[in-house]
Amino acid sequence: MKTIGLLGGMSWESTLDYYREINEDIKKRLGGFHSARLVLYSVDFAPIEALMRQGDWDGAGAHLAAAARRVEAGGADLLLICTNTLHRVADAVADAVSIPLLHIADATADALLADGRRKVGLLGTAFTMEQDFYKGRLAERYGLEVIIPESVDRPRIHEIIFQELCLGQVRPASKAMFLRIVDDLAAKGAEGVILGCTEIGMLIGPADTPVALYDTTRLHAHKAVDWALK
Ligand code: GLU
Repeated sequence: MKTIGLLGGMSWESTLDYYREINEDIKKRLGGFHSARLVLYSVDFAPIEALMRQGDWDGAGAHLAAAARRVEAGGADLLLICTNTLHRVADAVADAVSIPLLHIADATADALLADGRRKVGLLGTAFTMEQDFYKGRLAERYGLEVIIPESVDRPRIHEIIFQELCLGQVRPASKAMFLRIVDDLAAKGAEGVILGCTEIGMLIGPADTPVALYDTTRLHAHKAVDWALK
């Protein structure tokens, strides 16, 4: 088994889910007392959140590049950045280490294509929904058509991620709103909806809607296990 490296803490609430998903998947596949070989470096999210809010992506990239070197120094064979949004600086992080980076959008695209999806909705932070680093990769590399929520809904989604989910708060009114937006995307032709923020799985899941949901935390974690056992 190879050693999975997690660059986590963004937020730590979702990093918990990564740790659980990876270990549960290893247990399911290998049984007994098996658990994941894993290195976790968990950052203090506050300065990184501030850099993102200020639009200082070079600063965020430098911060995460330094953290990624620590993951590699800890003995990891593979690197995961445990957030969708910070894949905005995936190239800076990948360039800082000699181990491969498992891009969260690639893990997600593999699952979408395996299910034959062509047109999908995307939920995430405003950065992820509105900028091109994520949607562009899905379109250019995988030929996926990506639609996003209406402009009136996007700021509220962003606010719920940062003001509630990243702080560990799960509110029924926010859940109802996310489910309504999932329905809106499906009504516009989305054949599935990407939960493109690693905390959204805390709020909604497959039991809540008939629309196919693609939880990036789970997909990223399971792809890492595939790789570790290959
Ligand atoms: N974890 C979130 C994501 O997957 C949002 C917080 C962050 O910006 O890291 O995008």
